[in-house]
Parts: sequence; C-alpha cells; structure tokens
Amino acid sequence: MEHRYQCKCCGYFTLEGETKEDILWDICPVCFWENDIFEDVPGKYSGANHMTLAQGRENYKNYSACDPKHVSYVRVPQQKELPENN
Ligand SMILES: [Zn+2]
Repeated sequence: MEHRYQCKCCGYFTLEGETKEDILWDICPVCFWENDIFEDVPGKYSGANHMTLAQGRENYKNYSACDPKHVSYVRVPQQKELPENN
C-alpha cells in the first residue's frame, strides 16, 4: 500500500512509496529537496543537497525551491499534497 510522506523542506506530502526506504533519495517535485532521511537536523549540512535543511527551507520561502538554481524544475503543490489532505 502506497503512503504519502511529507517533504521535510517544503512540508508538502510529495513523496510516495510503501515504506520510508522507498522514498529515500527521492527528489521533491515542489521544492527539489533530495530526501536524505539520515540528515534530519535542520542545522546539519546535507551532502546530497549541498546545504543545510534550514537553508533549504529559507530558500523555499524566498524562491519556491530549495535552491535558487532549481526554480525551473519545481511545480506548485497539488491538492492531494497539502498537509490538510494528509
Ligand atoms: Zn519539498
């Protein structure tokens, strides 16, 4: 059974898989954060994302992407991905 998991950067439920292992290293289509579940501490540097989670969240607020370089790859969240629908 598929589950929908919350992206820890943008907060939308964009990651789909049967288990948390299935979504490991998936890239969020809304903010382009790579799901490196071992780096859950906001102030810790994420090697996969080349920044800390705190920086990614700040960038998402300012640019609608975790990195300004990725703004052309992201999309707006869908209804089913909104926190109130999960
Ligand atoms: Zn995201």
